[in-house]
Order: sequence, then C-alpha cells, then structure tokens
Amino acid sequence: MNHSKSSILYEEAVKYIPGGVNSPVRAFKAVGLEPIFADYAEGSRLTDVDGNTYIDYICSWGPLLLGHSPKAIVEGIEEVVAKGTSYGVATAIEVEMAKLLVEAYSAIDKVRMVNSGTEATMSALRVARGYTGRNKILKFEGCYHGHSDALLVQSGSGTLTYGVPTSPGVPEDVVKHTLVARYNDLASVHALFEANKGEIAAVIVEPIAGNMGVIEGKKAFLQGLRELCSKEGTVLIFDEVITGFRIAYGGASEYFGVAPDMVCFGKIIGAGLPVGAYGGKSEIMDMVSPIGTVYQAGTLSGNPLAMYMGKKNLELLKTNQEVYKVLATKATKLTEGFKANLEKLGLEFTVNCVGSLVCLFFANGRIENYDDVKRCDTELFTIYYKKMMEKGILLPPAQFEGMFLSAAHSDEDIEATIKANYEALEMVK
Ligand code: PLP
Repeated sequence: MNHSKSSILYEEAVKYIPGGVNSPVRAFKAVGLEPIFADYAEGSRLTDVDGNTYIDYICSWGPLLLGHSPKAIVEGIEEVVAKGTSYGVATAIEVEMAKLLVEAYSAIDKVRMVNSGTEATMSALRVARGYTGRNKILKFEGCYHGHSDALLVQSGSGTLTYGVPTSPGVPEDVVKHTLVARYNDLASVHALFEANKGEIAAVIVEPIAGNMGVIEGKKAFLQGLRELCSKEGTVLIFDEVITGFRIAYGGASEYFGVAPDMVCFGKIIGAGLPVGAYGGKSEIMDMVSPIGTVYQAGTLSGNPLAMYMGKKNLELLKTNQEVYKVLATKATKLTEGFKANLEKLGLEFTVNCVGSLVCLFFANGRIENYDDVKRCDTELFTIYYKKMMEKGILLPPAQFEGMFLSAAHSDEDIEATIKANYEALEMVK
C-alpha cells in the first residue's frame, strides 16, 4: 500500500503542528505508523490522499452514525452558509435543536449548546459544583471526558494509549478535588463517599466506557450510582458523548433505564460539525448565567451550520429509530464473525460489543475495567492493525478505542472485515 503523499504531507505537517496532527491519536503512533491524510469519504469508505480506500471504522470517532456525508443531512447546507455563518445573537434553529434534545432525553428539562465534548463535561461539572456548593468530583479509571484539567486524571483514550494518565501542566491543586474509583465497582465508590462525606458535588461516568475499548457499565453499577447520588445529594452526570443517540435515541439512559441528573453530549449531535451540549433538570440548569450565577459562555455556541446538520441528523434518527436495531445487528454479525475466527485459530481473545460499538481486545478473559484493559498485548495489536490496514480496513489506531459502525456499513463491508480479521489474526498467531 503506497502512502507516499501522506508521508510528504506528514513531513510538512510536523514543521508547523506538534506531532503533525491536531489530536494525538491521529498520529497513528500507537500502532507504529505515520498518519494517513484523508482526501474524501463517502458512506462507509474513506479515501486517503494516495488514493487508498478503506472500510472506515474510525468514522470521525463516533459522530457519523449514518456514515460519511449522508445526502439527507448535508443537502441544503450551502443555503445556510449563504445566509450567514455565525451571528452572535440567538437563532430559531437553536431553539428547535434544544427542543429535540430535551424531548429525546427524558431526564433533562433544559440544555445549553457548546462546541465540543470537553466543553460540555467541563461546564456540567461547574454547574454541579455551583448547584451543590461542593468542590469534589468523582470519576472512573479509564473513562475519558475530554481534556479539561480536572478530568485529565487516570483517563482513557489517548492518555491511556500514550501512558500519560495525568498530564504535565495540570496543577495538583486542580486535581486534588478529583476522586477516582474503579469502573463497574460500586464498592470503590461507596468507600470514596464514606471518606468524603457531604463533599462530593458530582459523579461523572461514561455509562458505556468507549475510551478503554468498549466496556458496558453493568446495570446494577449504574443503578447503584443513581441511588447513592440521590441519597448523598450528589449530581449524577452521564457523559453520553459517545453513547448519546448512538446506543438508542434516548442514549444509554434509555438503554439502561437509569436517569442521571445531568447529561453531556458531543460530536454525535453535530453529525461531524464541532458541537456539544450539556443539560439537566431546570432546577440545576437555571443555575447557569444569565438566570443564575454560574458563568458559562461561547462565541460560536449554537453555530448555525452545526445546528443545521445536528437538527437534520436528530430528526432523521427520531423518525427512523429502527436504525438502532439495524446497527446492533451489523455489530453482532461482526462480533460473531470475529469470535468464530478466534475459535478457529485457537485464540482466546475477548470481543466486547454494545449496540454499534465493537472492540477486539488482545487479552483473554472478561474485560470489565481499566485493570482488565491493561492486560492487553498492545504489540500483537500493532501487528494485527498493520495487517488489517493493508487489507483495506481502517480501525481506530489504538487498542484502547472501539470500532464505530455506521448505518452505511453494508453486509459486504462486514463480511470483508471478518475475512480480513481471519487473515490478519492468522499472521499474528
Ligand atoms: N467524553 C467522551 C466520552 C469522549 O469520548 C470524548 C471524546 O472522544 C469527550 C468527552 C471529549 O469530546 P471532544 O473531543 O469533542 O472534546
């Protein structure tokens, strides 16, 4: 596979951009490769500047539930641009978008638009702290909530991949309020609540952890968090940046039947444009300025282009909710195919699948938390990764990231991926 044009671009990029990329995982460093540079993408396929076309399972890290540039969503955007790209005053479409979000997610009454998942989680925490008058927050090992200071503690995603769970530049004074518990382990949460009585403002959790591979939160764990937070007057925040509108129209909250006090959305509600949102019950959200005194703002928040794409995306999902069954069927087929391949080859690696998220872990046994994930053989994954890429399958370039399926992935795509998986595993063995 020829990557010469990507290579030339990379050489140029590193002169001006740290590591040549605008987000670390795009460097493909974890799999010992140089980055590829995208040229265009359509449906389930991405083509790089060298003309290599891949079946894409990165899918922009989640937002493209219906694949790349679905006509039904992108058409008409030129007219929006022609009218104006940003106003700095309110627009009707922001109201329509907020209504859609609130109606989809029964746990919330009000929502505020922001520009990324990081902004959503950072802002939600501020509101939760303002609401409770407490400082401490509790997160889970291996869960990633964006790159704000307070949350960059034992997080997943790139920080797990590159082995820097806590980043230099994050003052100890800031993270001293961040408590960290074990994912899927309620006892570890109870212990922290016991040791910090009446001090914890919020518990923030990925209900399905998508930043240490794919790990489903156990229902009893999530229900336990709900009960504990209600008892202790702590705000329970579901970070649904990956799961919102992907696992079900009502997100992981609908899927598990557990209602948080606040929710964070991200990329998926913009269908590929930069966007995020946080929401909660009126009592909590009315803490936010200009009604309340908790300050949070954004020049481009509610941007008309992002709102246009986001609204069309949500409307399409709302009226076609059978898409979630279709997605789950595709993911199950892929998972069963991977499992059958592993069995045929006498390998005992674990495949986790929830909804349209799939992860093949290069480790045996159950994978339920951060310690389990750390057992993965990342060197073997790297060899596997390169073989898959040579066969035209673009996986997320790190062991600790899940595969994102979209409605545009056809049966043929899934079959081709299962075949490539067999051949790649055979070489890894
Ligand atoms: N929360 C979760 C669960 C995420 O997966 C991510 C990003 O992948 C974020 C928050 C941060 O979102 P963004 O990259 O848009 O800042």
